[in-house]
Amino acid sequence: SIPLGFFGGIGAASKKGILTKGSNYLEALNDVKYVVFDKTGTLTKGVFNVTHIQTEGKLTANELLEYAAFAESYSNHPIAQSVLQAYGKDVNKGVIEGYEEISGHGIKVKIYGKNVLAGNAKLMRKEQIDFIHPETLGTVIHIAIDGAYEGYIVISDEPKEDARRAVQQLKQLGIKKTVMLTGDAQNVAEKVGQQLGVDEVYAELLPQDKVEWIERLDAHKSQKEKLIFVGDGINDTPVLARADVGIAMGGLGSDAAIEAADIVIMTDEPSKIATAITIAKRTRKIVW
Ligand code: ADP
Ligand code: MG
Repeated sequence: SIPLGFFGGIGAASKKGILTKGSNYLEALNDVKYVVFDKTGTLTKGVFNVTHIQTEGKLTANELLEYAAFAESYSNHPIAQSVLQAYGKDVNKGVIEGYEEISGHGIKVKIYGKNVLAGNAKLMRKEQIDFIHPETLGTVIHIAIDGAYEGYIVISDEPKEDARRAVQQLKQLGIKKTVMLTGDAQNVAEKVGQQLGVDEVYAELLPQDKVEWIERLDAHKSQKEKLIFVGDGINDTPVLARADVGIAMGGLGSDAAIEAADIVIMTDEPSKIATAITIAKRTRKIVW
């Protein structure tokens, strides 16, 4: 049977916007030694501003942005929202067909009957497009039309103010290692990691690569030590499911993410992880 104190813990957590699927997950937080974060939307705001548009083909900058916006119009990735906002006009969905989102890569779609690609370097390599590697600290969206490279859009996101605090509080709670896993470029990832004081950063990962990193970290820790993964739920359902405790943030993540997570944090504050661990420690004291 479940000791009564656990219900107190679950209740205390839910008052802070931390929803637990079972007392065992709250209990497991007592033994967390590794906290692994997703980057975009979890540690960073997930709200990007377009900082540069580079045309390398026949299109004007406005046309390039229009193709990007049309391509992103069915995606709920933070990148898509940002491109659509920069475009600022209504998308004519009547000219879009065969939409395909390739997780960790970008979009493949037909617009005005042309084959359009909008995504990262991985997508360009996969589709054998000859492209430019710009030196920038932003996230790059390359655009190709009918096999020809048309240029790129640079967007930048910034760390959440709460994220630095979150990482510091975890250190104070005795966490051995904080890790950031991301599908974004290495240089962007390193900069965010430094700004936030995250111990280790691994970039350019696909969702399945993130699972492999979790498995690798798992192999290095003792059975008693727990590992948690914290994500915003976009592209990271497999990792949420694989971690000892999977935590989805933002509350309004996809149904699949809420399904895969063990704990759901209703706000977009990563410091709620430290709050949850503190509640778990207090609950254990009362119970035992
Ligand atoms: P993160 O691990 O930072 O949360 P994701 O795994 O969601 O990032 O995405 C990894 C990378 O894949 C992005 O940084 C981007 O380069 C590319 N990508 C994913 N979705 C899209 C999209 N809708 N449009 C363009 N690029 C995308
Ligand atoms: Mg993400």
